[in-house]
This record gives sequence, structure tokens and C-alpha cells, in this order.
Amino acid sequence: MGTNRSPGLEKTLSFSRDLCYNLPMNENAMKLSRLPPPLLAWYRGNARDLPWRSTQDPYRIWVSEIMLQQTRVAAVLGYYARFLESFPTVEALASAPEEALMKLWEGLGYYSRARNLQRAARLVADRGGFPDTYAGLLKLPGIGDYTAAAIASAAFARREAAVDGNVLRVVTRLTDDHSDIAAPRTKQNIRARVQEIFPEAEADVRIFNQSLMELGATVCVPGGPPKCLLCPVRELCLGRERGTAERLPVKAPQKSRRVEEKTVFLLLREGEAALRKRPASGLLAGLWEFPNVEGALDEPAAAAAVRAWGLAPRAWRNRLTARHIFSHAEWHMTCYTLEVRGRGPEGFVWVDNLEQHAVPAAFARCREEAERALGEQENEHGILEEERGPLGPKAGKTPGTQGGEGSASKSP
Ligand code: SF4
Repeated sequence: MGTNRSPGLEKTLSFSRDLCYNLPMNENAMKLSRLPPPLLAWYRGNARDLPWRSTQDPYRIWVSEIMLQQTRVAAVLGYYARFLESFPTVEALASAPEEALMKLWEGLGYYSRARNLQRAARLVADRGGFPDTYAGLLKLPGIGDYTAAAIASAAFARREAAVDGNVLRVVTRLTDDHSDIAAPRTKQNIRARVQEIFPEAEADVRIFNQSLMELGATVCVPGGPPKCLLCPVRELCLGRERGTAERLPVKAPQKSRRVEEKTVFLLLREGEAALRKRPASGLLAGLWEFPNVEGALDEPAAAAAVRAWGLAPRAWRNRLTARHIFSHAEWHMTCYTLEVRGRGPEGFVWVDNLEQHAVPAAFARCREEAERALGEQENEHGILEEERGPLGPKAGKTPGTQGGEGSASKSP
């Protein structure tokens, strides 16, 4: 293994040379071609000891790569260990109950990753093992360019460049490249550049992508000046030489996110809270949620919405606000906690323990409040016999005082 090249890559390389370097081997390309030896030596002596780096098992590498999409290393470590303990093989993941999988994923966000993981695990189990090429891996659900290349190189020693945000930053700084990294063409060019300098020895091939990412994560860092004095490849860096590194990479401003107002109900009844399942497709598909409606409803409108579900409001406990940020949208939530009578429509499930249900992080603040209210209810036993109006003086709590400033969570 070690000398393969993706279909179409030759074309991309020649495009990259012609348009980006002007000459087949200018100063820029020459410096970049000298990158692997010092970078690999540094990586071998300094890389963080992460569990997915000490294995060549494609299953373990794949799980780590999927978890690390949109999630920081420190946050992934615990999830990764628990996940592999529950599903130690691709077959175990393929046959896992969806609810158990979602429960283990709870808090990581981007739940479609977990669903795709299981869909891909079933395909892999059916075919008796992972495809061992970039092109084969790309066909699996949830595996894109970057992940296919990362698995192909680390597990199967394929010379495939995996370009993530770290690699984009490192390479644009090294080559003093001011192209917009949000543009697909920039990514293609950088992939071609890295592919061109990929080492040949199998042991080097397995770690080269990781070494670039590690440099980006620990030395050529985002959000502040790069630590050029500690950098093993500073002599090869045009961005450092020309004083532009700190301004790189260039990224065109993102479009602003769509804001969606929601009213969420924490409906309590005899020590239980109402949940329902989200639709089977779309955002947070198939996960549990607190019943909610579109729009920021005031108290009378919220009471009408509760009655429309066939429930009778008994006691309004409080109101809070929360925000959750997805990649392309923000949920601004008004969340009412109230005691009700009745069972509600078909699809409402009344539970006394939220722990057993995978409620996505988007509802984290509401869930915290629901757990607190359930605990409080257990202690009150009948105090709430009297009917109380929506968050009026008789409610015993001032509207908005429980988390009324709102909380913002971010995930996917
Ligand atoms: S010298 Fe500085 S800017 Fe260049 S790659 Fe190293 S840390 Fe990044």
C-alpha cells in the first residue's frame, strides 16, 4: 500500500500547480515539499496520547472521526470510551436498539451522525468488513471526503489527504495563501497540495494527516497568534516569514442564522412530565422532546395551546427563556412549567424519569427545569390542589425568575 492516488487527482494536481503555483516547483511548493520529515518527527515526540491514535482498527478510528465532527477532543473522550464499551464491534453497533444508541449519544448533538453511524455499521457488518479504499469508504452513510481520507490513511495506509479546519489553517499559513477557505475550490486546492507531499513509508502514511491536524490543534492554533517559536516547521513557513500568519486563514463572513421562536411546555401530572417523539425525518429526527409550538406565546395564548391538546391547566409554576444555536438556525424558546389534568393527545408519553429518554441538548435548559420541577413535585404532595392562574400572584413564583435571563446552549 502507499502509492495509490484518487481517481481524478492527477487532473486536480495539474490544475493546482498551474493556477496556484504558476511554476511547477516555485519557492512555495519547494518549502511545502520539505514539510513531512520535521513534522512527522515532531509528531512522534509530541503528539497528545489519544485513544484512537493507538489503533489501526477501522471501526475505532471511524467512531472517533464521527464523534470529532463538530465536537472538541476533550468532550469526545468520555463519550468515546462509553460508546466502545457498549458497542465494542461494528456488529454490536449494527444490532443495537436505536434508543440505547441515542442515549449514549445524548449531549453530543448532531444526532444524524449517530443514525448514519448505525446505518453504515449495518452495511459494513453485511459485507463482512470495512471497505479499505477512500472511494469505498465514501459510499458509506455519513462519511464525506474528510472522514473517508482520515480512515483510509490511518487504518489502511492509503495516501489520502484529510483536510479539516486545522489543516486548512496550517497550510494557508505555511503557503501564505489568502484564498477564502469557505470556498470549495480552496479546499480542493489544499487537498491537492497535501496529497502531493504525502510521504511514502506506510508508518508515515498512517500518521501524516494526524500530524498536520495536531500541529493545527496545538501549535498553529486558531483564535489567537500561532505559537511560531514552538513550531517544528517554522523555517518552511511563508506566513511567518512575511508576517501574515496571524491574519490567515481568510474566511468570508457566514450568512446569519435563521431565528425560530418556540414555546415549550413542561407539562407535569402526578409526578410525571410529558414527552413526545419528534418527526422521523428532519432536524433532531425521532428524538424525544417536550411538547412545543411555533412562536413566542404569552400566557393566555399558552393556556389556549394547552387546552387545545385536551389538557386542563391547574397550576402555573414558572416561565423561563432559553436559546439553542444550531449551525444554520437558532431556537429562541419560551418555556412554561405547569401542572395539568388530562392525558393529552395520542403521542404524549408521561414519564417520571427523564434519564431514560434521549432528549436532545437543544432542550437542555428546559430539561433541567423539568427535572427540578419533578423533584419538587415529589416533595409537595398535594400542595397544589388549589387551581392557580397563569403565572399570576397566586402561582407563588414570579414569572421569569427561574432562569428568566435565559440560557444559551450550542450544538448541533
Ligand atoms: S510557523 Fe507559525 S504560522 Fe507557520 S505553521 Fe508554524 S505555527 Fe503556523
